[in-house]
Amino acid sequence: MTHKPSGFNSKLVHGAGAKDPLGSVIMPIYQTSTFAFESADHGAACFAGESDGYIYTRIANPTVRDLEKTVALLENGYDGVGCSSGMAAVTTVYMSYLGAGKHIVSHNAVYGPSRAIIEGTFSKFGVESTYVDTTDLEQVKAAIRPNTALIYLETPANPTIGISDIPAICKLAHQHNIPVCVDNTFCSPYLQKPLDLGADIVLHSMTKFLNGHADIIGGIIIAKTEADYKKVRSTMVISGCNMDPHQAFLTRRGLKTMALRIDRAQENAMRVAEFLEAHPKVAWIMYPGLRSHPQFELGKKLMSGPGAMMSFGLKGGLDAGKKLMDNVQLCVLAVSLGGIETLIQHPASMTHSKLSKAAKKEGGISDELVRLSVGIEEADDIIADLEQALSKI
Ligand SMILES: *Cc1c(COP(=O)(O)O)cnc(C)c1O
Repeated sequence: MTHKPSGFNSKLVHGAGAKDPLGSVIMPIYQTSTFAFESADHGAACFAGESDGYIYTRIANPTVRDLEKTVALLENGYDGVGCSSGMAAVTTVYMSYLGAGKHIVSHNAVYGPSRAIIEGTFSKFGVESTYVDTTDLEQVKAAIRPNTALIYLETPANPTIGISDIPAICKLAHQHNIPVCVDNTFCSPYLQKPLDLGADIVLHSMTKFLNGHADIIGGIIIAKTEADYKKVRSTMVISGCNMDPHQAFLTRRGLKTMALRIDRAQENAMRVAEFLEAHPKVAWIMYPGLRSHPQFELGKKLMSGPGAMMSFGLKGGLDAGKKLMDNVQLCVLAVSLGGIETLIQHPASMTHSKLSKAAKKEGGISDELVRLSVGIEEADDIIADLEQALSKI
């Protein structure tokens, strides 16, 4: 493609402009493990990096490359590295920047497994960690040590919806030569571009908004510089965290409508949030679109919209929350998020159940917290469903 599209929706549809040699309008699924070389010299040149020919699907695959380059374009990054899951992307970043004697600073309410793998597995290899509330810059400042090798943010965080000040934290980190990685899963590049805000690495669980149809598991890492990209790609390749071409094909298809889906889900989410906030049985609600959110102004600065994720607590605590989850009919009781259907779940007993009691308490993941991922159904139907379920409490 000679004309490079600049609008977000055009980028979603046309992507990085990869051309299939047979003229297929849609990038086909290159369902192959290995690629034939033209000659012994060509094979040697591919391995030496002197030719961009394909070698082996764990290393790179055309269907996956199309997706990687497209998401890199959306995030304004240098290039991307597709991974088998969001957690494979998280683990690849950790393996790339951490090691024995190195230290990570992160949010005490990150996605449960992103913390559990540091405290349960990387700790066995001598990695040190400090989890603080990164929505408070002073706590980040106090957590930095001489051996801090990575600051890992998730904002808005899962499941508390707390917002961290990406530019301020990056400025602080870079004064200490520490790279910053942001898990941008809750926003997608449509609503927030961490690399433009100062981060070095951004990652996604593409299982969520990027694919958006609850039918694949996938992850991606986007680096701002060539050096970081190469570092992350080589870790992914040798650890076998690669994405499967069929998964990449479905994700690329889902990605085309991401902005349309998010516009709609966000509109619904705003109405649902207003409904819940006014409901007498709701004790509190965290949604970046409500003025009651403690980082409402910061959210408006970092994000172009409040998104479709919210958490709330009911006046009756956990028992009331269980009653709600057992009585919804349209909302699906399931983990995951960012799909076309509205999902409701209970982090303390589900997504964050592997965390210690202390870690949950620190992270504000209370027993009463219910998380809602608003879908693209009719807002009236979502609200009517919540209303009837709330009336059972
Ligand atoms: C789901 C999720 C992950 C993990 O992604 P998988 O695709 O399930 O491995 C990481 N971070 C966040 C914020 C998530 O929501």
